[in-house]
Amino acid sequence: MLTIETLRRDGEDFYAEKEKEGYLDWSGLKDVVDMQAIYKKYEHLVDESFVPVLQKKYEESEGFEKKQMLHLLLFMFEEILLGKVSEKFVDEISQITKDIKIPVSWQKEPLTYRQGQTQKNNLPERDRRTELEDKVDEATAKFIPVRQKMLQAMYDYIRSLGYPGYIPLFSQLKQVDLFEVEKMMLDFADRSDALYKKVLGESAESRMGIPLDQLRRHDLGLMMRGPEYDRYFDGSQAVAKAREFTTRMGIDMYRNNWVIYDLESRPNKLPRPFSCPVRVPTEIYVCMPQEGGLNDYIYFFHEFGHAMHRVYTDPNHTFEIKQIGDKSVSEAFAYLFEMLTLSPTYLVRALGIDEKVAEEIIRFRYLKRLWGVRRYVGKIQYELLLHDEKGFEGKDRAYQQIFERCMGVPYSPTAYVTDLDDGFYSVQYIRAWIIEEQLRQFLIDNFGEEWFFSKEAGDLFKEKLYIHGYAKNGEELLDFLGIGPLDIAPLERNLFKILS
Ligand SMILES: [Zn+2]
Repeated sequence: MLTIETLRRDGEDFYAEKEKEGYLDWSGLKDVVDMQAIYKKYEHLVDESFVPVLQKKYEESEGFEKKQMLHLLLFMFEEILLGKVSEKFVDEISQITKDIKIPVSWQKEPLTYRQGQTQKNNLPERDRRTELEDKVDEATAKFIPVRQKMLQAMYDYIRSLGYPGYIPLFSQLKQVDLFEVEKMMLDFADRSDALYKKVLGESAESRMGIPLDQLRRHDLGLMMRGPEYDRYFDGSQAVAKAREFTTRMGIDMYRNNWVIYDLESRPNKLPRPFSCPVRVPTEIYVCMPQEGGLNDYIYFFHEFGHAMHRVYTDPNHTFEIKQIGDKSVSEAFAYLFEMLTLSPTYLVRALGIDEKVAEEIIRFRYLKRLWGVRRYVGKIQYELLLHDEKGFEGKDRAYQQIFERCMGVPYSPTAYVTDLDDGFYSVQYIRAWIIEEQLRQFLIDNFGEEWFFSKEAGDLFKEKLYIHGYAKNGEELLDFLGIGPLDIAPLERNLFKILS
């Protein structure tokens, strides 16, 4: 049978090989990806009989050891066991994706599914966006049967191991009361309804020339990209600008050459940014396409924020503390840098943008932020309903109603089993936004509005934030800094202050 030591040692290698293969695949550096071979090589880790042993150890241990056991359980489920259960469905999904050809009226060549998804929010011609949105929706329906089977297989598997269900399992693994989060977010949605509708309506009228009651998802998608602000952001300078503020903070973004920045364009490179912590802290990849404009800053600052957390993590931690745990912590660190593009001080002082323009950009970015948070209110509410394990009947209507209410535009019910990340990753983002805002307030209180130029702030990042890896979850980190409990108030206050 598996032992803790083997799981730690081989688990770390397995994780590294999987991340590396993922990087090579998404970066377009490798044509044929062989995840199966990696799973085969580490087949001995797929040991269900070890789950009750680990669960018992978790229940019996205390303090830091308890946390280590919890992280190993999380690793076992998320990376190994549920990965194994969904393997064949994932293959089926990628086959369906490859087979989809979307014919469009404006060109001979049909679009791939991926192209369709990106282009429907980017085409300047509204009739083309509408045509494409409807056609992508039609194509999405092809995934419904396999996604239902995949979810059901996960539900059955979790119960077969003696756990009371999908929701209770993830509540335990993530140490989060998911229904509490739902309640907090639904209250937030209630309080922000009127403001959201007002600002969204104004923005749609003035920027798109479309009244709110005629606005569609693709219009919203295009509007939220904010292409009109690209001219204020020279994308080719994003890395240099990051280097500028990290240098002043005393953070070395290339530390020992452990971080590899892959920014060149490549035909098969994924059109979205990502980072892969292959080995923590010694081998981290940051990969993104460069579009030239605001997104280059948003993407790069976010991903390299993750990379800094990973590269300054204490190497003496065990694998499950370096790589596994409350991902909202790493997301919060990533957002701290990403959200510099929401700081008037940063835009004016570091990027030299005119004050009036900066104000307008920030108002736009905050609308996008409110839109993003409300989208995740819909996600947590809907995912708790979807995963109640009472069948899929009627879930499509619920999906539609929930998101229409949160987003204020019509939603098709089709994506009800595809428009989500499994394992409640949505909760990680919600928590990250809340934590990020609390951390930012703390930084401003202690180091001033220009904390991103402060050496002392840099020391805090290195010595009190990054170093722990995942040894502290969000609540523990806030408590450790003396900030207090997790609290949505600062986030809400800022949204209202900027948008009212
Ligand atoms: Zn992230």
